[in-house]
Amino acid sequence: MNHVVVVGAGLAGVRSVEALRARGFGGTITLLGEEQHRPYDRPPLSKGVLIGKTDSTIVDSDLDALEIDFRPGVSAKGLHTGVVETTEGELAYDGLVIATGARPVRLRGDGPQHVLRTIDDALALRALLTEGARVAVIGAGWIGAEVATAARKAGSTVTVVEAASFPLATALGPIGAHTASWYAQAEVDLRLGITVASVDQGGLTLGDGSAVEADVVVTGVGVRPAVEWLAGSGIALDNGVVTDEHLRTSLPDVVAVGDCAAWWSRRYGRRLRVEHWDTALGAPDVAVAALLGADAVYDPVPYFWSEQFDNMVQYAGYHDGARLVLRGDPAAGGKANWGACWTNEDDTLAAVLAVNRPRDLLQGRRLIEGGQRLDVHRLADPAVALRDCTVA
Ligand SMILES: Cc1cc2nc3c(=O)[nH]c(=O)nc-3n(C[C@H](O)[C@H](O)[C@H](O)COP(=O)(O)OP(=O)(O)OC[C@H]3O[C@@H](n4cnc5c(N)ncnc54)[C@H](O)[C@@H]3O)c2cc1C
Repeated sequence: MNHVVVVGAGLAGVRSVEALRARGFGGTITLLGEEQHRPYDRPPLSKGVLIGKTDSTIVDSDLDALEIDFRPGVSAKGLHTGVVETTEGELAYDGLVIATGARPVRLRGDGPQHVLRTIDDALALRALLTEGARVAVIGAGWIGAEVATAARKAGSTVTVVEAASFPLATALGPIGAHTASWYAQAEVDLRLGITVASVDQGGLTLGDGSAVEADVVVTGVGVRPAVEWLAGSGIALDNGVVTDEHLRTSLPDVVAVGDCAAWWSRRYGRRLRVEHWDTALGAPDVAVAALLGADAVYDPVPYFWSEQFDNMVQYAGYHDGARLVLRGDPAAGGKANWGACWTNEDDTLAAVLAVNRPRDLLQGRRLIEGGQRLDVHRLADPAVALRDCTVA
């Protein structure tokens, strides 16, 4: 293998080129990035960048020292056996890493609609979040909550419209309802169970025909894997690029990582596609190992965090079908300090949610990885450390 092409210069892309060099690959590495920027981190976009704390989130990676042929502003347009078609012509590869991430969904309508995915999006939006501006945010998921937080900090008037009957419904399920009070405390007008029919000039038209007037509309209703360029290539696609547990795709010498990859999880016995930073950080080393002929397995306990309304929200695991145990009282006064555990039928831990309880997250993550059986009654007591909830 003499030439590896990495398509997508986000976190997963840059970690892939680093992993190739760290594993001793001495051949040519070409890194294609649709954006004009050097690889940067996205989590701070909706946090530090939006509130004006920082302007740059470029990752600390010396592409020149690694001898990477980095091509900003170049997109992959198609894929044939051994060749990536790019906006600057064809590029032959011996090995290919697909790391094209995901793109935000936009809603219907001819009104101006902001999304938050890139540093350019973040800087453009920040300039509009001003004192007294009327900001309508569509979606009370992670991005919606963080944008609402930043907009309130800037003194804007904020309305959040959410189709589900509680915030964070997709990620957390009904327990997300306990975050609704954070919106009220921040004086955000949270409208639940309401769909948006269209984004128009001057605001939103809602499903019931009523309107929300707004100077700024931000759509935060989720993302789709950026795999349109792979259509017709013969690669297996199903909610992203399908991979095995080694992150190998259906095509030889092609691996996929990060937000665009739907990998086979041994741990959960199903395919997972996780749109979070920790996956983009951890998957590339395994994928590159596979590309170079080793048999490493990617089998993490998924992890993510969000900072919203001055709360640190952290989650690890995968809770589909698991039993929920609330830990602490979300309605207690003062700074939020509660969480949740989801347990499997055999009383092992499936997932943990920690609100301003970083120790719960750390210990819970270890318990999920270790698979110890737990005393479910003790789990419900927030005064008992999670690591002290194991049973012999
Ligand atoms: C505002 C924001 C806040 C976030 N906050 C958190 C958080 O608090 N916690 C957390 O865990 N996760 C968070 N995330 C998610 C996390 O940032 C992503 O999971 C991570 O960025 C995924 O990395 P990636 O490299 O797979 O994809 P991306 O970061 O999307 O990078 C993919 C790159 O590929 C480029 N590309 C796409 N198509 C092509 C093509 N055809 N040719 C060439 N290049 C292409 C794209 O332009 C992009 O630069 C946040 C994301 C956003 C947007």
